[in-house]
Amino acid sequence: MSVRHTKIVCTLGPASSGRAVLADMIRSGMDVARVNMSHGTHTSHARTIRLVRSLAEQLGRTVGIMADLQGPKLRTGVMQAGGVDLQEGASITLDLNPEPGTESRIPIQAEEFFRMVVKSDRFVIDDGLLELAILDIAGTVMRAEVIHGGLLRDNKGINLLNDRTAVSPLTDKDRVDLEFAVQQEADWIALSFVQGPENVAEVKGLMYGLLPAGSMPIPVMSKIEKPGAVTAIDDIMALSDGIMVARGDLGIETGPERVPLIQKDLIRRCNLAGMPVVTATQMLESMMHNPRPSRAEASDVANAVIDGTDCIMLSGETAMGRDPAHVIRTMASIVTAVENEFATPPLRSASDADDPAEGIADSVARSTVHLVDAVGASAILTPTASGGTARNLSRFRPSVPIVALTPNPRVRSMLTVHHGIQSLPAEDHDTSDEVIQDAIDRALDSGLVEEGDRVVITAGTVIGQSGMTNMITVRSASRPLFKGVGQGSKRVMGSCVQLAEILHNGIIDPQDCILVAPKFTPECIEFASHSLGLITGCSAETVAAMLPEGCTHDWLAIYGAVGDFSRAAECRTLIMDTITGRVFDLAQVRNI
Ligand code: PEP
Repeated sequence: MSVRHTKIVCTLGPASSGRAVLADMIRSGMDVARVNMSHGTHTSHARTIRLVRSLAEQLGRTVGIMADLQGPKLRTGVMQAGGVDLQEGASITLDLNPEPGTESRIPIQAEEFFRMVVKSDRFVIDDGLLELAILDIAGTVMRAEVIHGGLLRDNKGINLLNDRTAVSPLTDKDRVDLEFAVQQEADWIALSFVQGPENVAEVKGLMYGLLPAGSMPIPVMSKIEKPGAVTAIDDIMALSDGIMVARGDLGIETGPERVPLIQKDLIRRCNLAGMPVVTATQMLESMMHNPRPSRAEASDVANAVIDGTDCIMLSGETAMGRDPAHVIRTMASIVTAVENEFATPPLRSASDADDPAEGIADSVARSTVHLVDAVGASAILTPTASGGTARNLSRFRPSVPIVALTPNPRVRSMLTVHHGIQSLPAEDHDTSDEVIQDAIDRALDSGLVEEGDRVVITAGTVIGQSGMTNMITVRSASRPLFKGVGQGSKRVMGSCVQLAEILHNGIIDPQDCILVAPKFTPECIEFASHSLGLITGCSAETVAAMLPEGCTHDWLAIYGAVGDFSRAAECRTLIMDTITGRVFDLAQVRNI
C-alpha cells in the first residue's frame, strides 16, 4: 500500500462546511482541517469542528484541527452581496461603519489602520490583488483612489506598503479566539504575523493559563509572514512547535522574489530542527475555478515536497473553491507521483551522527531508520505515549510509513501534521510482548502493512512512559494461527502434532512437540503432560475437569483457542506465545 508522507492541510470555509463535502474531503486525503479565525463565528466554527471529528471517526481516519488566530491583520469588512467590483481610478471612502460596503465605501475592521498610514501611502487588499493610494485622512475616515481595481469580497486582508510595523501582536480578538480554541481542544494553534519570540511566549503563557489542570498543551505553529520574523527565525523556532511559510502575506511584505528562497531556507531549518513545517498559500489557486491546476502550480506543489515540507496547505481552494475534494485529490496525486519517483535525501542522515550530544532516543530513532533499509522493512511501528518517538523518527525521513500506535486520541490528532506519520489507536498492555503483538495486529487490520511484511518496531520498554525509547526489534507482521488464553509466560517453538497422528503413528517423543487438540479428550492427557505445550479449543476449566482426581498440571497451554484447526495439519513448526495467547506458523514468520 502506497502511503502519502507529505500531509495536506485544508482551510475550511463556506465551500467546505456541509456534511457531504467534508466527508468527501476526508476520504480524499485531508489530514488537517484549518479553522481560520479571521472568518466565521465561534458558533459556526464549533459546529464545523464537531462535524469534522465525527465524520473522521465514522470514516476511521484521524484529522487534526488547526485553529488559526488572525493576529494583527488589518482587514476590510463585509461587502454587499459578498463582493463588489472596485473600478480603477474611483475615489472611495474607508471607515469603521460595519454596514456592508459598496462601490464607493469599504468598511474597515481595525481602528489602528487609520493610525498606521499617512496621506499618499499605498496599501494592497486581498494578497495584493487590489491596490489603493490614500488621498486624505480625517480621524477614522479616509479617502483613497483605486490604483488596481477588481472584485473585493468579504473580510480581505490589508497589507501596508510602508515600513510601519503593525500594532500589538496579539489582539483582543485573538485572546477570545484562543480561549475558544482551548475549549474546543484544537490540536494546533497557528499564530499569525509573529514578529518575534515574545509573541510566541505570550500566546503560550495565555494558553497554559486557560488549559484545564493536567491537560496536554496545544502546540503552537508560528506563521512567518513578516520580514522581521525571517530575521528572528532562530529565536522564534526556539519557542515554537511548528512553522508555517505563509507565502501570501510574506510575498507582499518581502516581495514575491524572496518567497522561494525564504521557503527553502525555512524548510531546511525546520527539517534540521525536527520541527514540522507547512508550506501555504496559492498552491493550487487556479482550482478555485478550474478543474485542472496550472502546470506551474503542479510544479510548485512538487517542489515543496522535494524541498522537504511536512505539509502543504490549501486556502481559498478548499474554503471557497468550486470542488474542495477534487482539489485535495489533485494535490494528493501530485504528492504521490513525486514521492514515488523522488526519494528526498534525509537532511538528518540516518547513518552518520552529526550531533555528539545526541540523546538515546535520537540515536534509537536514527538507528531504526537505518535498520529499515538494511532489512527491507515495509513500515516502522512505534507504540508511543506522547507521540515523541514518532516525531523523532519523522525527522530522519524514513522511506516507509511511521505507524504511531497510541491510546491517546489527542496525540493521534496532533501527529497529523508530521511527515510520514500515520497513527492508529492502541490499548494499554502490561508487557512489551503484548504491546508489540497488538501493534502488529492493528497495523495489519488497518492495511498499512500486509501479512508477511517485515516491520521494525521501536518503543520504550517502560510502558506508557514518554521519552524512554530504548528498544528496536525486527518482526514479521503475521496474523496468529490461533488466539486464546495463555497459561505460563513463555514463548516456545516446537513441532506441531495432532492427536490423530499420535494414535496412528504410535507414541512419539513429546518433548519437542506442541499438541494441537481442537477438543481436549482424556487420551490427550498423557501426551500433553510430557509435551512442550498444548493448544486446545477447550477452556482451562474443561481440561481440569478431565484430569484424574487430585491431579493438577502446569503445562504451557493456550486454552479456548480460536482459529483454523484444519490449517494446523499443514504446519510443521509452531511458535506458541503464552504471554499474548497467540500461536504462529513458523513458515509464515520469517523474523519473529
Ligand atoms: C498567508 O498569508 O499565506 C497565510 C496563510 O495567512 P492567512 O491565510 O491567514 O492570511
